[in-house]
Amino acid sequence: MALVTKAIKGTQDILPSEVYKNQFIESTMLEIADKFGFRELRTPVFEHTELFQRGVGETTDVVQKEMYTFNDKGERSITLRPEGTAGAVRAFLEHGLFNEALPQKFCYVLNCYRYEKPQAGRWREFQQFGVEMLGAAHPAADAEIISLANEIFAFLGVENLRLELNSIGCPECRKNYHNALKEYFEAKKENLCPTCLERLGKNPMRILDCKSPICKEISEGAPAILDYICDDCSAHFESVRKYLDKMNIEYVVNPRIVRGLDYYTRTVFEFVSTDIGAQGTVCGGGRYDGLVEELGGPHTPSLGFALGTGRLLMLMAAQGIEIPKPNGCDIYIAPMGENASYEAAAITADLRANGVSAQTDVVGRSLKAQMKYADKIGAKYTVVLGDNEIENGKANLKNMDNGEITEVELADLAENFMNFLVQQATLSLAESLDVEGVDLSSILGSI
Ligand code: ATP
Ligand code: MG
Repeated sequence: MALVTKAIKGTQDILPSEVYKNQFIESTMLEIADKFGFRELRTPVFEHTELFQRGVGETTDVVQKEMYTFNDKGERSITLRPEGTAGAVRAFLEHGLFNEALPQKFCYVLNCYRYEKPQAGRWREFQQFGVEMLGAAHPAADAEIISLANEIFAFLGVENLRLELNSIGCPECRKNYHNALKEYFEAKKENLCPTCLERLGKNPMRILDCKSPICKEISEGAPAILDYICDDCSAHFESVRKYLDKMNIEYVVNPRIVRGLDYYTRTVFEFVSTDIGAQGTVCGGGRYDGLVEELGGPHTPSLGFALGTGRLLMLMAAQGIEIPKPNGCDIYIAPMGENASYEAAAITADLRANGVSAQTDVVGRSLKAQMKYADKIGAKYTVVLGDNEIENGKANLKNMDNGEITEVELADLAENFMNFLVQQATLSLAESLDVEGVDLSSILGSI
């Protein structure tokens, strides 16, 4: 029985009283991405397992340990997406978007699924905001997506984030590096975890991303990729850095960043915070020049990043950043009796049609209980509607904050109320700014 009233481990409900925070950051991020020309792409929550095996990489933690994979009733192997890039590239190929003007620029907000050990900042269902730019090899593109992430954090007022930057080269220059790593880890292999022991043969760079403390410690002394990258990759990295410098975006080079997914090439980066504990990487991304080809498409150098919205909200809470609360109920119409209830329903509908957030009684409460309810939902104004009011066509509009009463005509209440709200807001703004010598009536007259 308890199973019925308990959400699955590592998943979260976002309650109506909290959801405005998610809505605010989601719409902010999508709007900022839109300014950069990124349009929203929506892909399915599940894909063929093979897409992630090929796209994310067989030797990654995600594919080896974390995927929610199952057979459907048609015996197809299906996986709940652990990330957004593979699906975006699949859609790019399936719809022939490589024939359109390049770069193609996508953004998305999506739920991802990874079978991980749930802890602060790490869930089994979590949400990512991400962007992908397909068909852009130039270093200006790297700087552009980094500046997009940077603008999001700046707009939201997030501070103390360190941008860590690295280049992991191309498959060519990585060959030498792999050999150097193999040699290094081979000498210490009796201490590596079993997964890393396996990686040693297939993809030694993955060891640098292992979360096991002992592997982490061993990795400290490993050769650094930047000493092995070829001239072209090195020039690309230099140029990315020059763009960032020019755009006044601060960063530190961290040669240990390799990122958790196999498809990355050249530039990789993370935005890291020390304010939210061990899961401090809020955003990670980089270039994946080989992925489109790997999935059967034309050579299409590409790049992107993903930002964990849960971690971002944790960070904003830790830094005391307030998220604007949505507008509550502007007006509550409280009918007394059956006849008034019909009138109230009509007036409330009219108010809403005029853009006002309006509510009325839908459970047949007494007037006293209605006023209590209006107070609880934070109604700014109330109108009591009885037979007298309906007969006279006039009612009292009560300001719930200060008790002030204004008589209003019921016939044009719906039409005038929005204007009235704007006037009140202007008045209180003027009062709070303490403007002197300004004729408020002239301001209000011009609204
Ligand atoms: P980590 O090293 O923390 O496991 P990762 O390298 O696996 O991260 P990415 O695949 O790059 O992460 O995902 C991008 C972002 O998505 C992360 O920086 C993080 O903010 C968020 N993220 C990843 N996994 C989780 C998770 N299990 N729960 C919550 N957020 C997550
Ligand atoms: Mg991970």
